[in-house]
Amino acid sequence: MDLTQFEHQYDHLATDVAAFKRLIANKLIYQVGKDPISARPEDWMHAAAYAVRDHLVGRWMQTTRAQYAQDVKRVYYFSMEFLIGRTFGNAVLALELMPTLRQALKEFDCDVEALFELEPDAALGNGGLGRLAACFLDSMATLGVPGFGYGIRYDYGMFRQTIQGGRQVEAPDYWLTHGNPWEFPRPEVVYRVRFGGRIEESPASGGGPAAVRWVGTDDVLAMAYDTIIPGYGTPATNTLRLWSAKATEEMDLKAFNQGNYFGAVETKNHSENVSRVLYPDDSTADGRELRLRQEYFFVSASVQDLVHRYLRTHSGFEKLPDKVSIHLNDTHPVLAIPELMRVLIDEQLQPWDTAWALCRRIFSYTNHTLMHEALETWPIELFGRVLPRHLRIIFDINARFLQELTEQHGADAALMRRLSLIDEGGERRVRMAYLAVVTSHSVNGVSALHSELMIQSIFADFAKLWPERFNNKTNGITPRRWLAHANPGLSALLDARIGRGWRRHLDQLEGLKGALELPGFLGAFRRVKRQNKQRLAALVQQQMGLALNVDALFDVQVKRIHEYKRQLLNVLHVISRYRRILAQPDAQWVPRVVVFAGKAASAYHMAKLVIRLINDVAEVVNNDPRTQGKLQVVFVPNYSVSLAEIIIPAADLSEQISTAGTEASGTGNMKFALNGALTIGTLDGANVEMREHVGPEHIFIFGHTTPEVAALRARGYQPREWVEKDPELAAVLELLRSGVFSPGEPARYQAIIDTLVNWGDHYLLLADYRSYVDMQDKVDALYRNTDEWTRHAVLNVAGMGHFSSDRTIAEYAHDIWHSTPVQLPQPLQASASLPVGHLVPQQR
Ligand SMILES: *Cc1c(COP(=O)(O)O)cnc(C)c1O
Repeated sequence: MDLTQFEHQYDHLATDVAAFKRLIANKLIYQVGKDPISARPEDWMHAAAYAVRDHLVGRWMQTTRAQYAQDVKRVYYFSMEFLIGRTFGNAVLALELMPTLRQALKEFDCDVEALFELEPDAALGNGGLGRLAACFLDSMATLGVPGFGYGIRYDYGMFRQTIQGGRQVEAPDYWLTHGNPWEFPRPEVVYRVRFGGRIEESPASGGGPAAVRWVGTDDVLAMAYDTIIPGYGTPATNTLRLWSAKATEEMDLKAFNQGNYFGAVETKNHSENVSRVLYPDDSTADGRELRLRQEYFFVSASVQDLVHRYLRTHSGFEKLPDKVSIHLNDTHPVLAIPELMRVLIDEQLQPWDTAWALCRRIFSYTNHTLMHEALETWPIELFGRVLPRHLRIIFDINARFLQELTEQHGADAALMRRLSLIDEGGERRVRMAYLAVVTSHSVNGVSALHSELMIQSIFADFAKLWPERFNNKTNGITPRRWLAHANPGLSALLDARIGRGWRRHLDQLEGLKGALELPGFLGAFRRVKRQNKQRLAALVQQQMGLALNVDALFDVQVKRIHEYKRQLLNVLHVISRYRRILAQPDAQWVPRVVVFAGKAASAYHMAKLVIRLINDVAEVVNNDPRTQGKLQVVFVPNYSVSLAEIIIPAADLSEQISTAGTEASGTGNMKFALNGALTIGTLDGANVEMREHVGPEHIFIFGHTTPEVAALRARGYQPREWVEKDPELAAVLELLRSGVFSPGEPARYQAIIDTLVNWGDHYLLLADYRSYVDMQDKVDALYRNTDEWTRHAVLNVAGMGHFSSDRTIAEYAHDIWHSTPVQLPQPLQASASLPVGHLVPQQR
């Protein structure tokens, strides 16, 4: 086909309002199939989404062609979770089409913001880890790093949380019910993923190694769904490719012929279950078979896909590590290592040593947690049953690794036991993190503190063996979603003061320091904050029927509910404050609204009990006439990316109060400070670096530090002693114990009292209580000085440039992936046609 002719055979899209209107009308009629006179708002939303997506497609094809033409190195980001949230507003932002779209829709009597609200969140993740992956996709596209996200297209994402009688109730997340206009189904891109069966070894011929055959497997197909990831301020885009399970046979024909119609489709349903639902917990490693199958399902399809893509334009594997980086987001995708070994050895007939040398250069790994209960290990029995070939490969990797270790360090049995990929203590288990470390050329933590603790604790032996392998990459967040999109008021103020460049170069926020003394600036900053509080208050009023006091200090803790994050410590402060107000009702209290949101893993009883306590405390405090105008507590249900976009810009105070040494980095902390909240926090995760960047005098740091926590535990921590020496703490616990917050059931919170006082208070809430409550007094004191508070808030924003995920991704690209950006003509002209000079091979 002559491509120069093809060039004139499709519409190049114009971006004037009239053209956009016409495009939307065409989409509504011909794609959604709705008559404008009967179209519902959802139909208009879909029509507008398709119109916007069309504008991304040109960029996508241009980028893909350039990537092939330049034979770039691709970075494959493997993650079980991508917590994307909504796509529409972000796409419009990237295309800078907002004014056009708003006007075009207005002429159809549609309000653009109202249509955005109709889009369900793509909640394909639990929390920080999944959201990090989403921010990274955004930054990779923006920096032109040629990247692919690979993950699972769960039919049901993170559960929907409702609160009934104060308790969390989970409902399934039917996010695909009305279709997903942003994805392109690729039924032609399917790979066979095999499970079970057994391995057969044929004796070596001609002195070579034995060939292993994996037979008798039970197979599932993985089908691709692609979503375009637009870069900001660049025509570059990337692809998020998610896999959905399809049965290899639509039905069991034999059963069908025997009249057993239901039985005939049962196997289909069974094998498609593998991509049905997201595991609603990323803080414990649940050794269930379905989880193992999910992990293998998506890495197998992804590895096959990327090898296939490589072989389209290359022969031989020498260049594979120059063209491919595979990044493992935590241990969930670590099966990609034995899978690439299997593909290279069994399918591509490469010698073991060649395959291993390639893997050693291709893989890199990010550790996300030091918590023992979250470190993945799989029982050998289960692993061998589901993936016998991979177990064999892991045994072989381990044998060679231990052999090498012996050659270098002598036969140190204790060292071998500690470092073996197989945990031999008790039930034998595969240590996934160790497999990642032994293979990867780079192992990183996600904040300076966490990376340091990582090499002192869980990977100490490995760090001595291979110190050069370990490094830090402090997390970041995308300023497009978390400032430009979530906080239009502050964005406009920034644009007026320092220009628009901060969206791509967040360091420019530094320029705000010069605005501090400008007349009217602090007042304008405060007005934006107040409007954001009103926006949140409207949502709370509408959803919960509660009227928040927007003149109060908004004190916010939103994140997964977990003991280590210590929402309970926050509640202890709320109860303390409640007691103090009752004791002195006429004192000049700084009014506070304490906002919580977050989901608890469905099986995590203590976390669910904390949610109930927050709601019980809210019930009592909000209905006590003595606290009116002084204290309100609210638990906003169903925390999600879109809810975070409303809550975070409304916060004055950001609660980042995990026990020092437990939060790997946190990214919520960064979102808050970027939106002008002051942080009250421990010296944990990225809080440590935030303190350096915003200045120690602009952040409220309290509590035991990591070494102090260790020392306290080593001495033998006695929580009861901390209660005995602090009458206020004792009184707060007594109030909780007395049943004031659970009048119908006084013993409801006995388990909480026991956890704190009698069962060791593992997260040291009682040891940090006093410094926390005292620091909250300092928060009040500063808040009374309105201008001084605002100045601190502005300086927080000004100091957050470092925490852009663009900075993080630039470091990954330079230090770990060694990738260079794709070259594209810049800037992209709105109506530019695709350059057709470079024909790429048949797309898959
Ligand atoms: C940023 C974010 C998180 C992570 O918050 P942390 O405070 O770092 O735990 C979790 N969930 C959502 C929806 C987020 O946007």
